[in-house]
Parts: sequence; C-alpha cells; structure tokens
Amino acid sequence: MAEFPLVPGSTIGILGGGQLGRMLALAAARLGFDVVIQDPEEGSPAGRVSARQIVAAYDDRWALKRLAEACDVVTYEFENVPADTVSELAALGAMVSPGAKALAAAQDRVVEKSFLAEIGVPTVAFAPVHDSESLAAALAKIGAPSLLKTRREGYDGKGQAWIQKAADAEASFDKIGRQAAILEAPADFGRELSVIAARGRDGEIACYPVAENHHEGGVLRRTVAPAKITQATRDQAEKIAAKILTALDYVGVIGVELFELSDGKLLVNEFAPRVHNTGHWTQDGCEVDQFEQHIRAVAGWPLGPTAPHHHVEMTNLLGADVDAWKKLAAEPETRVHLYGKGEARAGRKMGHVNRLRPLRD
Ligand code: AMP
Repeated sequence: MAEFPLVPGSTIGILGGGQLGRMLALAAARLGFDVVIQDPEEGSPAGRVSARQIVAAYDDRWALKRLAEACDVVTYEFENVPADTVSELAALGAMVSPGAKALAAAQDRVVEKSFLAEIGVPTVAFAPVHDSESLAAALAKIGAPSLLKTRREGYDGKGQAWIQKAADAEASFDKIGRQAAILEAPADFGRELSVIAARGRDGEIACYPVAENHHEGGVLRRTVAPAKITQATRDQAEKIAAKILTALDYVGVIGVELFELSDGKLLVNEFAPRVHNTGHWTQDGCEVDQFEQHIRAVAGWPLGPTAPHHHVEMTNLLGADVDAWKKLAAEPETRVHLYGKGEARAGRKMGHVNRLRPLRD
C-alpha cells in the first residue's frame, strides 16, 4: 500500500483516456507524477500525454493487475467504471480514489437520490420504476408532468422522456427502452448552477465559487463563473457539497449539479465523482484548478487555494466548432483548450475556450 502524501516520481493511474483524463494527466505531470492511463482505445486523448497507456477493456483482469502493480493510487475520469473493476483493483492491493461508495451512488439515480435524502440534501421528489405496475404507483405519487430517466448510464440528457400526462406514461417508458428508471417531479428552476468541491485525505474540504450553466439539447454549452449569487446561496451550495463529501468519506474532486428555484432554494440534480465540465473555467479563473486539485487530493497533498482571479465564460467546442481554432487563438482574452481528438463528429466535445475578464467588472 502506498504511503501518503505520494512523493514526486510516484505513479498515478487513471481509468479512462478522454479529455478529463488528459487534463488530469497534464496537471499530474506538472506536480512531478507519472501517469498510466487505462482505456480500450489506442492513442486516447489522455494516453497521448501520459507516461504510458494500457490499451484494454475496464474488466480485463490481466490489464488491471498491471495497472495495480504500476500505480501508487488509481483514480478515474468517468463514473461508469464497472463496480467489479474497483473491487478487483482493491483485491489487488490498489488504492482507488474516490472510493467504491461514491461510484455506487453516482451510477444509479435511485441510489443517488435516496442517499441524498438520507443525509438531508434536498432533491426533487422521486420514485423508482421497473415495470408498468411501479410506473403507475410512481405516477400516483409524483403526478404529471414528470420526467422519466433511466437509473443507469444516462448522461447529457440521454435516456430521458417527459411524461406530460398520465396517459403518455407507457409511451415514455417505451421511449427509454423500459429500462429500470426513476420518475422525477419537475424542478421549477430559474437557473442551473454547479459547485465543484474537493476533499483531501485528511478530510479538509475546499469549494470553488458557484458556476452558472447553460445547456443546449441536454449538453453543456456554456458556464459563467463566478455566478452572480447571494451569500446565502453560496452558503447553501457549500453546505450541500460538504455534506456529500463527508458522508461518502470522499477523496478527490466532485461536481454537484444544482437547480436554483425562484425562492432561492437549491436542489441537487446529480453529482459526478470526478472533475466536471462545469469546472473547466477554474483552469484560467482560479489559483489552483480542479485538475490539479484532484491530483493533490488523491496524492494526499494539501488542497490548493480555490480563490478566483478572473471572471470566466467557458464555452464548449462541439463538433465543427473546433475548426475556428485559429480565430479563437487570436483573441487576446481567450484561452484555448483542445483535446487532440481526431474526428470532429457532430456534438463531440473537441475542446473548450475560457474567455477572461477582470473579476470586478
Ligand atoms: P441530467 O441527465 O439529470 O443531468 O438532466 C439533464 C438536464 O435535464 C438537466 O440539466 C436539466 O436541464 C433537465 N432536468 C433534469 N432533471 C430535471 C427535473 N427533475 N426537472 C426539470 N428539468 C430536469
């Protein structure tokens, strides 16, 4: 078992080789760590900036053995890492952070919302659905309109169907493939906010300023941060993040998505046990960004300061948006972050830009 804090020269494993893994790997390299990526795709965005990539499926036991042997700590860049992968790594003596509890809660919307209710964090009303009978019972409890979402593997608005009136319920259930689901009451929100926070191995917690997020077609398009919010809203967001982190005995960065209701109350939509797209603004807006913060946390280092030094508007470059790189690179207030992905398929996250302005504008 590794000893914490990890000394520079130690090796950090990352499950997943996408853009989040890439930005984590770059941050880790800056602190003197070597990174090993495991991803089934050869030459992944993260693999290309890391010391090594193990090209293998996440349930490949031989590959996991090599990863466990090579690394002092293993983390991940996506929440759908199979639970068996984490238990296999643990059985091989590897330390995986964040731990299995956080993953289990984040992988299943019913488990997630039940956990939040248990620890006193507000969410919309919800009920589990797995067949026509439970769908009818859920509708009787939640009413319509309401939102039916698959329990697992939904992201960017996928696997969701609105039920406008009770008579549409079966058709909506068909639309999501009659998979195990959750029925949610509609959140009457004015804004979507998020809070990125971190917890260190010693239990220290650090929160970034709250961000305001704008989605298009279920996909994050733009984040504006720090969001214009009251001190009371900020306090609520920080309290929510701290409750979740502490209850999960969490180590690393978490992204908590929030609905802001008209009366100022915050509800948690969901949390991601990893660095988060709505935290990309911290790269150019805060003293220590979310990627370095995550590496610091899993390595057992002290957390870094999260204070903002610029106001940032982060815009995702989706698909062909990335073709504007030359024009964007010429804008003096714009920081360009590209993920090194080959094919700019429609909607694919190819990069993002952070546009800066002075904090006090
Ligand atoms: P999710 O996949 O849970 O992040 O949901 C994707 C988007 O759907 C969110 O960013 C919201 O805009 C919207 N949404 C999700 N849940 C609800 C809800 N209960 N009520 C209203 N809108 C929702």
